[in-house]
Amino acid sequence: MIQRRAALLALPALLAARAATATAWRGEPAQGALLFGQASAGTRLALDGRAVRVGSDGAFVLGFGRDAKPDALLEVAHAGGRTETRRLAVAPRDWQVQRLEGLPGAMVTPPPDVLDRIARERAALAALRKVDSGEALFADGFDWPARGRISGVYGSQRVLNGEARAPHLGLDVAAPVGTPVLAMAPGRVLLAAEFYFLGKVVVLDHGHGVQSLYAHLSRLDVAEGMAVARRRPLGAIGATGRVTGPHLHLGLNWFATAVDPQPLLPPVQG
Ligand SMILES: [Zn+2]
Repeated sequence: MIQRRAALLALPALLAARAATATAWRGEPAQGALLFGQASAGTRLALDGRAVRVGSDGAFVLGFGRDAKPDALLEVAHAGGRTETRRLAVAPRDWQVQRLEGLPGAMVTPPPDVLDRIARERAALAALRKVDSGEALFADGFDWPARGRISGVYGSQRVLNGEARAPHLGLDVAAPVGTPVLAMAPGRVLLAAEFYFLGKVVVLDHGHGVQSLYAHLSRLDVAEGMAVARRRPLGAIGATGRVTGPHLHLGLNWFATAVDPQPLLPPVQG
């Protein structure tokens, strides 16, 4: 149940933690971080007052948003009844500012007649992000969903036609239209639809609130409800929705909290 890559250094510590039936995780709390942890069975956890699922095998996940505060409280209720509260230091990060000029006005400010549609789609995504399924399909780590140039990073602030917009909460991979987009881990298809901003979009549930999102696809090769294997084609890179050119927008969420996919992906090969 250990991530295959990028976790070798943390492995002995994690195994030791398991042996001692402590509560431990790989990596450090930081803005945008998603941490995979292990507790002894029967442990109950809450992060900043919110209950966190602990699997029957002890697996759990903690996520920290782009603007997470400098510390967080983790309440641990051990199976034997003892409780403790740990204060976690959440490391800050610096975020890029990205300026994009010359976008068509209609795409910067949506026309009034699509506002209802946008609201419906936003509500649908918010509902999906409450899904808390028990299978730890994230446990073997993540693969790149497509090969291409990184054209946008998590956390960056976009200034469109001189107007500051909401931070970019995903990773953009630019590649030609038609480049296959693959599932980054096994999962279940929660959403396969066409949205105004995201274009053709797929959302996969990997369990414990971990969801990956693949947007701006040229086509959809999966349907809602399907179970998909790692690297199963989901569709292809496209330019649907609000885009300036063909690319994949990859999102990774822990419930409503968008986290940075990049630190969880294998190093890019030259
Ligand atoms: Zn993007």
